Amino acid sequence: MKVLVPVKRVVDYNVKVRVKSDGSGMDLAGLKMSMNPFDEIAVEEAVRLKEKGAATEVVAVSCGASACQETLRTALAIGADRAILVETDAELQPLAVAKILKALVDKEQPGLVLLGKQAIDGDNNQTGQMLAAIADLPQATFASKVEVLEGKAQVKREVDGGLETVEVALPAVVTTDLRLNEPRYVTLPNIMKAKKKPMETVKPADLGVDVAPRIRTVKVGEPPKRGAGVKVPDVATLVDKLKSEAKVI
Ligand code: AMP
Repeated sequence: MKVLVPVKRVVDYNVKVRVKSDGSGMDLAGLKMSMNPFDEIAVEEAVRLKEKGAATEVVAVSCGASACQETLRTALAIGADRAILVETDAELQPLAVAKILKALVDKEQPGLVLLGKQAIDGDNNQTGQMLAAIADLPQATFASKVEVLEGKAQVKREVDGGLETVEVALPAVVTTDLRLNEPRYVTLPNIMKAKKKPMETVKPADLGVDVAPRIRTVKVGEPPKRGAGVKVPDVATLVDKLKSEAKVI
């Protein structure tokens, strides 16, 4: 079984981002970029499935600028077998990525597409679900455990108030949650090996996909600054302030 793992290049989770002064978006110039953490978990899971004998090949795919090659090299260093860069400088919204992935699903015929549950830059949480819809595949989102059995996958999902176990027929789309696994440390020998693994580059047009944005960002702003707190002498003053100033009771 082939596993397709889409990996997104995003601003590193340790970096504090700033809004551009004209409110048109985030200022990303010169910031450290990394693989989306949920996608790292997805690559790790796919590689573990291969190590267990449940998968035969792990193919990483990234859509975006040529710098995404770096993200793909990280996926190859974790243990993916080959990589596909769908290169474009256009702004990619989740629907465009889902359409690209659908075209790759048709071409590659994977038994499983393992995505992150969300990219930490846009927090969209849409691509996996959209892909499942347009490729007409079953989906199991927010996986905290994945077991591949004969022709199906059993997935434990993190839902409000507990865990739900669902079974999906393969091929299927699964999205990863934080507790699925802890990605391995990428070692230097594996980084070196990754340099020799195959990486193919295609354009969205080669896959017949129109990536034109369907959503327009109207404005991006900083959250309102929090004012300093005050100490109140007693409960009566607190209640009074909550009523008259904060107007929450
Ligand atoms: P999102 O719907 O944007 O929150 O992204 C959910 C998941 O879709 C990510 O964790 C990735 O696995 C995948 N994804 C989103 N955008 C891209 C991209 N440009 N390239 C590759 N995978 C992506």
